[in-house]
Amino acid sequence: MEKCKHTIIFLMILFVVFPNYAQALKVVIDAGHGGKDPGALGVNGLKEKDVNLDISLKVRNILEERGHEVILTRESDIYISLQDRVKFTNQQNADLFVSIHANAHHDPSVKGSLVIYYNNQYPDEDYPASKAMSTLTPYSRTLAQSVLNELIGEAGTKDLGLMSKAVYVARMGSIPSILVETAFLSNEEDAAKLFEESERQKMAIGIANGVETFVPITFWDALDHWAITSIIRLQDNDLIYGYNNSYEPNRSLTRAEFLAMMDRIFYFTSDKSPENEQETHEPLDNLSDDQNTPISEEETESTQENDLSDQDNRNHEQNNSNTDLNETNEKESTSVLSSKFDSNKQTKIETNDFKDLSTDHWAFEIIQEAVNKGYILGYPDETIRPNEPISRAEVSVIFNRIWNENEMTATEETFSYEDVSEEKWYAESIYLLKELSLLNGITESTFGPERNMTRAELAVMVDRFLY
Ligand SMILES: [Zn+2]
Repeated sequence: MEKCKHTIIFLMILFVVFPNYAQALKVVIDAGHGGKDPGALGVNGLKEKDVNLDISLKVRNILEERGHEVILTRESDIYISLQDRVKFTNQQNADLFVSIHANAHHDPSVKGSLVIYYNNQYPDEDYPASKAMSTLTPYSRTLAQSVLNELIGEAGTKDLGLMSKAVYVARMGSIPSILVETAFLSNEEDAAKLFEESERQKMAIGIANGVETFVPITFWDALDHWAITSIIRLQDNDLIYGYNNSYEPNRSLTRAEFLAMMDRIFYFTSDKSPENEQETHEPLDNLSDDQNTPISEEETESTQENDLSDQDNRNHEQNNSNTDLNETNEKESTSVLSSKFDSNKQTKIETNDFKDLSTDHWAFEIIQEAVNKGYILGYPDETIRPNEPISRAEVSVIFNRIWNENEMTATEETFSYEDVSEEKWYAESIYLLKELSLLNGITESTFGPERNMTRAELAVMVDRFLY
């Protein structure tokens, strides 16, 4: 009964701290060595294979209790070759692989925990990685870092950091893979820890906690994309979502998708109640909100802090008439935006007026709010074209409108793109973003203002802005 109560409280805490918790993982745990291969021998007589197996079984129990699926490469003291471990793992269709070891060093004073992963930036000619693994580096590294952090946090071992190394089980698989060196059997203090059942349990909790923070790969189409690190970071922070295991990084960003992302980081739909979010959901859209993800307390807090609009509904009209809307429009947008947007519609527009925006559109609320706040304008033909691509110039200008409350300006020296002359309506915004290293040119000397913004470009821009 007591245990049950604790479990419930624990789950509640997890739910708040890790919104991704709801996602059950399939994990392969590999207890290093075994059978005829004892691994390292401890100063206190411990055999590495026994320690590895015990910690692996503990990790399995913890993860299974938390609702994850765990597969062990071995559950007893048997010998399995490295090749067979990887072959077996590749057949499991799992989310991640963790090999558990204990370390040894000729210098008995060396102690601590480290986590090994395969880093495609430092390939080893003698030990080439599998093709899949060389694209998985960002995922393996993310996993390695969380496991290491949690392990040293729980077990109190010394932090020896991550290690890029082409060890067999970390380089030959087809899923994110790490090898955990829990502690040094060659060090008296570490070996004593590994000897203690309660200390091994702490290590197992740490490893399980780290594993649990892992967000499984969904964007298989972006794995070897240049923007993958940003894409992963935004995904881990619930800012982007995949659909059908793809992100489509090279696809043109639509106007609705862009505004949805802006809303996700600036919270301009300030009356964001769960019902309203429900309406904005469009399952076919890769950028759309996952309505099953609860808003954690942290997010709620940051909503209040970061909400640039900082107003409730009653103030909307007032704000429209006197703040960023008019100023921004006067300064930069009217001249050229009006060739594309209708500058006469700067006053409040009912989005119902747009011929091509039905209330069923997944981003209806967001677009309506963006129009109300003057972030975007309709076209002269009374359309808003939510599903059409948005250009890099438009992204720059709209981002600036939403974010640049202090009206920072670019310095003259940066006005150097051949295709963005000073008098263009978007020049100021583009050069400001360049100065802040948020959005760079497509080459050193060109920006490509008319080009469609890609989903990868937006991911990198938002990543740079937030992290
Ligand atoms: Zn080992």
